Amino acid sequence: MSEETTPICSAKGCRLDAVWVLAWNNPKIHTPERRKTWLACEEHREHLSQFLGVRGFLKDVVLLKEWEAQGQVP
Ligand SMILES: [Zn+2]
Repeated sequence: MSEETTPICSAKGCRLDAVWVLAWNNPKIHTPERRKTWLACEEHREHLSQFLGVRGFLKDVVLLKEWEAQGQVP
């Protein structure tokens, strides 16, 4: 098994490599410090950010490489 799995964009039907991490939280079902993450390619970052943004869920948009540099798992 390879450990070099490239994360894939979370957008439906998209198979592109993820570049961005969208950290979000739904206050109705998650505790405030909990972070769910979606992965996005360059093309879908805007779309997915808007989806979360209009619901007030979006907390952070971070480059995947920076996210990993912080020791977080996407
Ligand atoms: Zn995508």
